[in-house]
Amino acid sequence: MIQLVSSSLLDLLTFGNKKVSAMALWPFVIFRSIEIAENKTIHNHESIHLRQQIEMLLIPYYILYFIEYWLAMITNGFKHQKAYLSISFEREAYEHETNLSYLNNRKWLSSWTYIKRKFK
Ligand SMILES: [Zn+2]
Repeated sequence: MIQLVSSSLLDLLTFGNKKVSAMALWPFVIFRSIEIAENKTIHNHESIHLRQQIEMLLIPYYILYFIEYWLAMITNGFKHQKAYLSISFEREAYEHETNLSYLNNRKWLSSWTYIKRKFK
């Protein structure tokens, strides 16, 4: 993980959404502040995303992420927060972000469990 701390870079990538505190774009994680970068839960959350990204060979991850987001937006009345939290990759990351040893025990392609659960 290459850690960057840049509020302006995050603003650029999120169209100025100040609620976004960090973003994983393999091999980088961009944090809004040093304090956020030192937050173990947020750090773990972003590390889970890096693992998801690399095991899906990057581009398919981003495609699936945005398909899930926009499908949820369209079917839920364009509620950003609801759509964001429904994304399979986010569900896995939020569910396990407080378990700091999660990535040590996580099975390869665990994200598929969340994706399959959603589309069946
Ligand atoms: Zn996330």
